Amino acid sequence: MPKKILKKTFGYNKFRPLQKEIIQNVLNKKDTVVLMPTGGGKSLCYQIPAIHLQGLTIVVSPLISLMKDQVDALRQNGVEAAFWNSTLSLDQQNKLQEKIHNKELNILYIAPERFGAGGFLQFLQNLKDDISLFAIDEAHCISAWGHDFRPDYRNLQILKNDFPKIPIIALTATATPKVLQDIISNLNLSKDFKVFQGSFDRKNLFYEVKRKQKSFDQICYFLNKRKKQSGIIYCFSRKKVDDMASKLKHKGFSVLPYHAGLTPQVRSKNQDKFIKDEVQIIVATIAFGMGIDKPDVRFVIHDSLPKNIESYYQETGRAGRDGDPAHCLLFFSYGDKRNIEFFFNEISNDLEQKNAEEKLQKMIDFCEQKRCRRQILLNYFDEDFLISPDRSEENAKKCCDFCANPPETFDATEISFKIFSAIARTDQRFGMTTIVDILKGSKNKKMTGRGFENLSVFGIVDDFSKDAMSEIIRQLVEQGFLRITKDEFPVLKLMQQAAETISKRKMIKLFEVKRTVSDSRTDAQEDFEFDEELFEDLRVLRMKIAQEKNLPPYVIFHDKALRQISAILPTSTDDLKNISGIGQRKINEYGDDVLEIVRNFCERKKVNVGDHKNNIDLEKINKVEVKISPPNGRSFETLNFIQDGKSLEEIAEIFAVKVGTICSHLERLIFAGEIEDIDDFVDEKTQEIIADAFDDNFEQGLSSIKEGLGDDFSYDEIRLVRVIGLRNENKKVIIKM
Ligand code: ADP
Ligand code: MG
Repeated sequence: MPKKILKKTFGYNKFRPLQKEIIQNVLNKKDTVVLMPTGGGKSLCYQIPAIHLQGLTIVVSPLISLMKDQVDALRQNGVEAAFWNSTLSLDQQNKLQEKIHNKELNILYIAPERFGAGGFLQFLQNLKDDISLFAIDEAHCISAWGHDFRPDYRNLQILKNDFPKIPIIALTATATPKVLQDIISNLNLSKDFKVFQGSFDRKNLFYEVKRKQKSFDQICYFLNKRKKQSGIIYCFSRKKVDDMASKLKHKGFSVLPYHAGLTPQVRSKNQDKFIKDEVQIIVATIAFGMGIDKPDVRFVIHDSLPKNIESYYQETGRAGRDGDPAHCLLFFSYGDKRNIEFFFNEISNDLEQKNAEEKLQKMIDFCEQKRCRRQILLNYFDEDFLISPDRSEENAKKCCDFCANPPETFDATEISFKIFSAIARTDQRFGMTTIVDILKGSKNKKMTGRGFENLSVFGIVDDFSKDAMSEIIRQLVEQGFLRITKDEFPVLKLMQQAAETISKRKMIKLFEVKRTVSDSRTDAQEDFEFDEELFEDLRVLRMKIAQEKNLPPYVIFHDKALRQISAILPTSTDDLKNISGIGQRKINEYGDDVLEIVRNFCERKKVNVGDHKNNIDLEKINKVEVKISPPNGRSFETLNFIQDGKSLEEIAEIFAVKVGTICSHLERLIFAGEIEDIDDFVDEKTQEIIADAFDDNFEQGLSSIKEGLGDDFSYDEIRLVRVIGLRNENKKVIIKM
C-alpha cells in the first residue's frame, strides 16, 4: 500500500497534494506527466511506485551530483538503490550489472547519455520483463523551449518504441504549454497519458524587485534585519560571488561562497555548513541549489537578473520549503540585461538564441510591469491567478512589493479613448507600434504611403512619450480593454469592455506612467552612483521650466545631465560646465535655479559637498566604451544577402532574429571596411541630423543621443551613423575578440 510505504519507508504521515493520485495512476500502468513546483515532492511520485511494484525502476536524471544525493537518501531509508554513470569504474559497473541480474536492485539512476551507448540498450532488452517503470526526472530537458535543453534527452524517444508496455512517468517544475507539448510528443506517450499539474503558487513567498542601485548597501540593510536567518544570495559570476562574499564577511556577516571555480571539497564543505546552520548565508552562482532540501531558507536574493522566469522561479523556490514566510528580493538593472545578452550572442543556433531572448524579455517584463508579481509569475506558468477584489490588506502585504504598496493611479480616460479610436479607425488591423506611431504623428519610413496622415487621430497625442503610450496600452490589455492577438504579427483588438466604457462614458484609471521620453529601455544604467531624491527634485524643476517655456523637458536637460548633477553636487556655475550637455547658455538661463535645488538638498540632508566632488571623474563617465567585434560567419552571410539586394527586414526574417541583430552584423562589416556606406539603409538627411547630434564625438552611448533626438530616430539608425563616424575618424575602438 502506498500510504504504508509513505509512513514506513519515508516516515511521512500525509501525502502532499496530488501525490496520491499520481502514484495511483502509475500503479495503473498509465503514462503520467507531473508538473509541480520545486519542493513539491515529485520524487516520491516514482519512488513509492518503484517500491510497491518491485522489479527495477529506471530513473533518468540529468545531474550526477543529484543522483548521488538521491541514492544516498534512499539507501538511508532502506531502499535498494544505485546509480550508473561515468564516475563508476569498470569493476563497479560489473558488480552493479551482476546485482541487477540477481534482481537485487529496486531503483537505478542513470544519465540520459547512457541511452546513446548501444550496449546499454541491449542490456535493457535482456532485462525487459524485470523493468517496472521508467521515470524521467527534470523532463523539461527534452524540450528546446525549456530553459535547460539537453540533446541527450532526445535519446529517450526509443523507450516507448522498444518497451511499449512499460509505463513512463515524466516529472518537471517547468509548466509552460510548449514544454509540456514537447515532453508528451518526444516521449511518444501512449494516448491515455494523464497530466497532473500542481499549483505553482508558493503562498508563503513574498516577491520584491528593486532597482539595482547601491545594491550592496541595500543587501546589508536587509541582512541586518534578518540576523540568524538562513539565506542565499545569487550573483552573476564567480568573481562577483567572491567579491560579495568577502565584502559581507568584512562587514561581519556569517557567509561562505559557492561556485564551480572552487574545489569539490570546498564546495561540499561550504554547502554542508549551510545545511547545518554553521553558516548563515551562502553567496553563490546558480551552480548552487540543485538538490538542496534545506527547509528553512528564509530569503533568496538575486543580486543580478536571472535569464528567465523558470530559473528565477526555481531559485526563489528554494526559500520557505517549510511553508513559513520567506522573502525573495531581486535587484534589477539594464546593465545586467546586457551582460546576459552578451552570452546569448554566443549561441550558434538561431532558434535557441531567439528563444533565449524572448525568455529574457519576459523576465524583464516581470521586473517592469506594474501589476502583482505573483500574478505575472503564475500567468507565465499558465495558471489563472486573479487577485480577488475583496482581498484583505493583510494578505496583500504578504504577496509582493506591488500589492503591499501599489503605485499612484491617474485618470486615463482621455488617452485611452484616443487609443481605442485609433484602433477602431484602422479596422483593428495594426499592432502596438503602428497605433502609437499614428497617435504621435510619426513620419518614419514604415508610415508613409499608407494614408495614416489623413486619419483624424493622426498626431493627436503630445502629452505622452511613445514609451509611456506603450505602457498605457499594456495596462489596457492587462485590464481587459484590449487584446493582443497571438499571431506572427500581433495586432490590437478592442474588447467588449472598451465599447461599454465609451458608450457609458465611464472613467478609466491606470497606474501612473513616466510621461517624458525615457532612455531606460536600453541604456539607463550608468556606472556611477547618484542621489535619486535629488534627481527627482531636479526633474520637478525641469518640468516647471518646460511648462513655462512650453517645451519638452528633455530639451531643457537630459536625464543624464540631471543624474550627473545628482552625483557631483555642484556648488558653482563652474562646476556645471563639466556636466554633459550643459553649455554656457543653459548655465546662464537655469544655472542659478539648479544650484539652489542642490544647495537646499544638501542642507536638508546635511551632506558634505566637498566629499562627493572629488570621487567622481566626469570625463570618465561621459565617455563610453564602444565595442565592435570583427565580422563573424553570420555577418558575412548577412553581407551576401545585402549584396543580393535584400532589405534588413528581409534578412532578419530569414534568420528569424530582430532587425537590431542584423544591424549588429552591419556594424561589424562597416567597421571592418566590408561595407562602404549606409546610404541604402538610412537616408542622407537622417544621417546628417544624427551625425550633428554626435557633435564630432562618436564615442558616446546611443541613449543620450537618442534622448536628444526623440522618437523619430531609431536606435539602429543612430548606431549605424555612429559606426561610420568611428571608422572615418579612425577612433580608437576596443576590438573585442
Ligand atoms: P521536487 O523534486 O518536487 O523538487 P522533492 O521530491 O525533492 O521535490 O521533495 C522536496 C522535499 O519534500 C523533500 O525533502 C521530501 O522529502 C519532502 N516531501 C515530499 N513528500 C512529502 C510528504 N508527503 N510529506 C512530507 N514531506 C515530503
Ligand atoms: Mg526533484
